[in-house]
Amino acid sequence: MNKPTVLIVEDDPPVRNLMTVTLQANDYKFITSSNAESAIMQASSHNPDIVLLDLGLPDMDGIDVIKKIRTWSNMPIVVISARSEDSDKIEALDAGADDYLTKPFSVEELLARLRAISRRLAAIKYESQTSVLKNGNITVDFAAGCAYKNGEEMHLTPIEYKLLCLLSQNIGKVLTHTFITDKIWGDSTESSLASLRVFMATLRKKLEVGDKSQYIQTHIGIGYRMLKVE
Ligand code: CA
Repeated sequence: MNKPTVLIVEDDPPVRNLMTVTLQANDYKFITSSNAESAIMQASSHNPDIVLLDLGLPDMDGIDVIKKIRTWSNMPIVVISARSEDSDKIEALDAGADDYLTKPFSVEELLARLRAISRRLAAIKYESQTSVLKNGNITVDFAAGCAYKNGEEMHLTPIEYKLLCLLSQNIGKVLTHTFITDKIWGDSTESSLASLRVFMATLRKKLEVGDKSQYIQTHIGIGYRMLKVE
């Protein structure tokens, strides 16, 4: 797959410079915006593969930029912000962001996130052609409604299967507790949240080998993410 085109939205020139230099050195194509209005224009006119979005912009809050882009596009959006509270991250994720990086960030971390999203974009392309998702030793056959581990059918409860599908369809994306319970139980009450913890634990036992969390990453106080496993 070709390196994706990245839209960098950042009003702080030194930070924007760091990002452009990093992407240039790693052969990414990129375009830049220093405010929300031009970011929204660039997102619609250039249709970038990935958006790196600062939240504190001069003309509009980045959260509103996410909401606007989400009215027409599912392009991956990674929030890069100095806001580090869980509530800020949850707000951005629930508005439709895929991932977040807290400032100050390391160049290596930024590149790792971009690689993860590129793998996810490739996986989504494959899945849309086949309705089967392969991730490491796990295969989810959405059309047949079953999942396999090392080629053997997994014995999952209906809720575990729904959870696995939801995580797999959003591979690489951090899903908040509220998002998951809304999708699975239709609400986000305390009891749904408690159920989520229980079913996530049993699903993990069936997916993971030993105590290692290879497939499902926990974001304490925020939610879960399914990782792309080679
Ligand atoms: Ca800013």
